[in-house]
Amino acid sequence: NVSAVVALKEPAKFKAIKHIILVASGKGGVGKSTTAVNLAGSLKNEGAKVGILDADIYGPSIPMLLGLVGSEPVTKDNKQLQPFDASGIKAQSIGFLVPSDDATVWRGPMASGALSQLLNETDWGELDYLIVDMPPGTGDIQLTMSQKVPASGTVIVTTPQDLALADAQKGIAMFNKVNVPVLGLIENMSHYICGHCGEANHVFGKGGAQKLALKHGVPVLSHIPLAINIRESSEQGKLIANDANAAISETYSAAARLIA
Ligand code: ADP
Repeated sequence: NVSAVVALKEPAKFKAIKHIILVASGKGGVGKSTTAVNLAGSLKNEGAKVGILDADIYGPSIPMLLGLVGSEPVTKDNKQLQPFDASGIKAQSIGFLVPSDDATVWRGPMASGALSQLLNETDWGELDYLIVDMPPGTGDIQLTMSQKVPASGTVIVTTPQDLALADAQKGIAMFNKVNVPVLGLIENMSHYICGHCGEANHVFGKGGAQKLALKHGVPVLSHIPLAINIRESSEQGKLIANDANAAISETYSAAARLIA
């Protein structure tokens, strides 16, 4: 058990949130956001109170993934932002507030300022886990954001490809620098099961995440396959983690149980 039980850096301010978990990736397009929402769904299915904060200023995709596109942010007493409810997950996204074309040209302080504001001014209520979908990469913006959020730990999503792994390694180094414990790696697009013969094909290479994990003394929390129904569910704004008939949902629950 990887136990994320680490005291929050600012316990007083966030006393109603037990654990903040950053979901990060060294590279874009590896499935970080898809993994983040399904991890949130699995934690909720395990009985936890869960929220998700979309901090990916470069391409906020949580509204689409949770079927919330077009929703308008609501405030209470003109002060606190109300999170959206997506099948029992409380959700907030930078995408609800700022057109993405604007956010992508932000400088570091603006981006981390916006993240702090979203985090602080959203009425999360009581949560066991707040999952933060971080922007991909390990530049100044990500570094500052990781320092600003009182996180219990981070989960790094990678594919088994060498390039993605090299960038995931940079991610581990960044979180080590800011003393955010790396709870583990999730290898996404790990393999593809042939629809005809059932054989597992390692499209992007085999064993990469395991090697990186061993090198840094962190576990691989799960191997998520490359699967058409993961992409299809995402595009329909549904969580595959909530589909008990999909064998894939178990690959997300496995990671959720290791974190919880
Ligand atoms: P990131 O947040 O790293 O940029 P996304 O989560 O947006 O990546 O995923 C990028 C694309 O890959 C999306 O179209 C998504 O539906 C698809 N995708 C992610 N993970 C998988 C998977 N395991 N199987 C199939 N498609 C996936």
